[in-house]
Amino acid sequence: MRVNFVDLKAQYNSISDEIHKNISEVIDKTSFIFGPQVNRFELEFAEFCQTKHAVGVASGTDAIFLALKALEIGPGDDVITVANTFIATAQGISHSGANNVLVDCNLHNYNIDTTKIEAAITRNTKAIMPVHLYGQMVNMDEIKKIAGKNNLKIIEDACQAHGAEFKGKRAGSIGDINCFSFYPGKNLGAYGDGGMIVTNDENLKNKIELLRNHGQVKKYYHDLKGHNSRLDSIQAAVLSAKLPHLNKWNDKRRECAELYSRLLSETEVVTPVELTENRHVYHLYVIRTKKRDDMLEYLKSKEIFCGIHYPISIHLQKAYEDLEYNKGDFPVTEEFAGQILSLPMFPELTEEQIRYTVENIKDFLSKNN
Ligand SMILES: *Cc1c(COP(=O)(O)O)cnc(C)c1O
Repeated sequence: MRVNFVDLKAQYNSISDEIHKNISEVIDKTSFIFGPQVNRFELEFAEFCQTKHAVGVASGTDAIFLALKALEIGPGDDVITVANTFIATAQGISHSGANNVLVDCNLHNYNIDTTKIEAAITRNTKAIMPVHLYGQMVNMDEIKKIAGKNNLKIIEDACQAHGAEFKGKRAGSIGDINCFSFYPGKNLGAYGDGGMIVTNDENLKNKIELLRNHGQVKKYYHDLKGHNSRLDSIQAAVLSAKLPHLNKWNDKRRECAELYSRLLSETEVVTPVELTENRHVYHLYVIRTKKRDDMLEYLKSKEIFCGIHYPISIHLQKAYEDLEYNKGDFPVTEEFAGQILSLPMFPELTEEQIRYTVENIKDFLSKNN
């Protein structure tokens, strides 16, 4: 048996008719940019996120940078985020000209340690960017409390959390302006790059609509120095075909996670914890073991493909030498980086594949005691 880390082909096979129908519509009309599919998908996705507005952009990284730009956060400003995240969070902040201020993650669910945020606030801090890592939302009550007290904006990086919930509120519905990615492997993935900004603030929505399209208010008139960062019509058409299936796919991911956790419960590996106020959508199913590197290789030899999200944290990346953080500054993030292992996770994963994966983990553990 072979177990891929993700299997985009299996998902495509289950909805290929809808995909082809929607893509053909775009090609028939040849309206590849801002075709009716884009606006339709924006409305659908706003509803899915329980927000008033959604604006399509070219990627999740662009969503982060444009959200900050719309808030007029840039050079000289500090934005607080978590050391334990994908590099794109930090790069989106950097593109705006603002400075990344990092905070360690907590011991329970890999997300930002909210008890350490206030100590990181400076005179220049303008915003907090919580990252809903692996598909589980940050405790947004804590974030709102800190942001309210210190007059900070909240920008959710929800790029791994389409459909996740905290106290019944969807990812993207709580912060001031919030960011999604439709990179193909995400819970909702396009057939190329894509992203979305969601907000309840009409002014911010209007500003993003200008910023993403050359600052254009009407043809030949440009009020802002904007960008070319649009969600194209073919990607929107693919995403529209997929969105009606997303709740079901997230439920499937949850079922897979439950089975993994049940089968692994008697072993020494640490399984993920879904906090009581959360609905985790398991973009990634991440376990922890001190024998990570050997386990990864062993599973690979059995044709079980895993990942590491992420082996080197932001503050130890060459690109972020200028932040002048040192090894040891974020001890929890650093310790976890050497222990985390993302097991195969996608909605079409079969019970057989999960059992095979866990059997091999158990075989590995018994041989490496
Ligand atoms: C994927 C991702 C992004 C960026 O998305 P792209 O569409 O690849 O630019 C940002 N933050 C996190 C946490 C992500 O996982």
